[in-house]
Amino acid sequence: MAMPGTEPAPTQAGQAPAAPRKKLLIRTWGCQMNVYDSARMADVLAPLGYAPTEAVEEADMVVLNTCHIRERASEKVFSDLGRLRDTKRERAAGGKETIIAVAGCVAQAEGAEITARAPWVDIVLGPQTYHRLPEMVARASRAAGQVIETDFPAEDKFDHLPEAATPQGPVAFLTVQEGCDKFCSFCVVPYTRGAEFSRPAGAILAEARRLVAQGSREIALLGQNVNAYHGEGPDGRTWTLGRLLRALAEIPGLVRLRYATSHPRDMDDDLIAAHGEVPALMPFLHLPVQSGSDRILRAMNRGHDAALFRGIVERLRRARPDIALSSDFIVGHPGESERDFADTMALVRETGFALAYSFKYSARPGTPAANMHGQVPEAEKDARLQALQALLREQQQDFNAGCVGREVEVLVTGAGRHPGQLAARSPWLQPVHFSAPAGLIGGMARVRLDAAHPNSLSATLLAATSPVAGLLDPVQPVSEHATA
Ligand code: SF4
Repeated sequence: MAMPGTEPAPTQAGQAPAAPRKKLLIRTWGCQMNVYDSARMADVLAPLGYAPTEAVEEADMVVLNTCHIRERASEKVFSDLGRLRDTKRERAAGGKETIIAVAGCVAQAEGAEITARAPWVDIVLGPQTYHRLPEMVARASRAAGQVIETDFPAEDKFDHLPEAATPQGPVAFLTVQEGCDKFCSFCVVPYTRGAEFSRPAGAILAEARRLVAQGSREIALLGQNVNAYHGEGPDGRTWTLGRLLRALAEIPGLVRLRYATSHPRDMDDDLIAAHGEVPALMPFLHLPVQSGSDRILRAMNRGHDAALFRGIVERLRRARPDIALSSDFIVGHPGESERDFADTMALVRETGFALAYSFKYSARPGTPAANMHGQVPEAEKDARLQALQALLREQQQDFNAGCVGREVEVLVTGAGRHPGQLAARSPWLQPVHFSAPAGLIGGMARVRLDAAHPNSLSATLLAATSPVAGLLDPVQPVSEHATA
């Protein structure tokens, strides 16, 4: 990922001089929440003198921020760690220290194995403890042995983090909720991220105001179960996500809001109504359904059936007729028959998705589904996945083609791939490219969508529609995301 730049804190009168500059490399896998966590780890380490680098040979500290959602996640981490052992040795021969830290969900789930198999790793930390990184670095530098922090501390890490120092660009991510209590049969999140926790609304509003002051125009609220949000409001009451979105929409200069990832069980009436009543809330929702079969949804312990999902879609479309939907699907969950899979295909045909992420079921050690009877043969899973993806691809292409000819407002996020071209985002999260002066980056523009390509649209600029602050490139999106 593009690591946001982090400068050491400037020295002020009466303060200790800044630590000598050191280099920090953070590699991030997985969802946007990990991208957000990586930026916050950089903020926490900046006062120690760590500035970002992309070159592993010059990194005084390397953090692997890992994801456990996808297959063979830990194997990939161990092969990266093997290469880092060599780098650490080479740097040590030149008299340079290298601190290696493994963070994120693989660290949380497999901390003991990491320290046993990779004794050159200095720090193993779970997602709830990265506010303690400076102390862990100090302990690791004193050669106090491996430092392992994978508990779920009672204190709220957000209370101990510095204010985000680095502008994120036109599109910013803001974590409002973490963890999950739902225990779907296939998922490690409840074990690696812990129980559901919501940040107080006041802290979120303050962070959002800072992001807007730094030039962000779109904020995506993040949480493993973001629509289960139930944080304390400034009025002392419990705020839901709908209430929080309405308050955020009042911030001057904040043009767009999104949220991910949601669970169908937590789509309450107020949140659905907000889609029709809050113009800043973009007409796009990622709502994972995973399967169209009630039998499999029960086996997955999803706590909802296909009818509930269909009902939500209908109500959302009534509230916001132009809303586009995205979802997650798992094919080949233990016990899935041809008939169950046909139910999934029927739900997809009936709903129509603008975007979707689909995966073959693969067992995660320690999850209930890993020990279930009726594991589906790989060849069967492959065939079902291909059929599902062909249908989803067709729906995505149809959706994009249906946008051609429309005039829409886009957020200009950066330079395009070709000279003189800019990259933007449509309200439906589609990448849009058009020719325009670079001065428009960071502002809103009205464009006419001219042509649909497999994953993007090209357009013609009609007018710039908002003034542009001096903004930076946005955080690059990563390819995978948390599921809910
Ligand atoms: S899939 Fe989503 S809702 Fe289910 S356990 Fe994982 S994070 Fe929680």
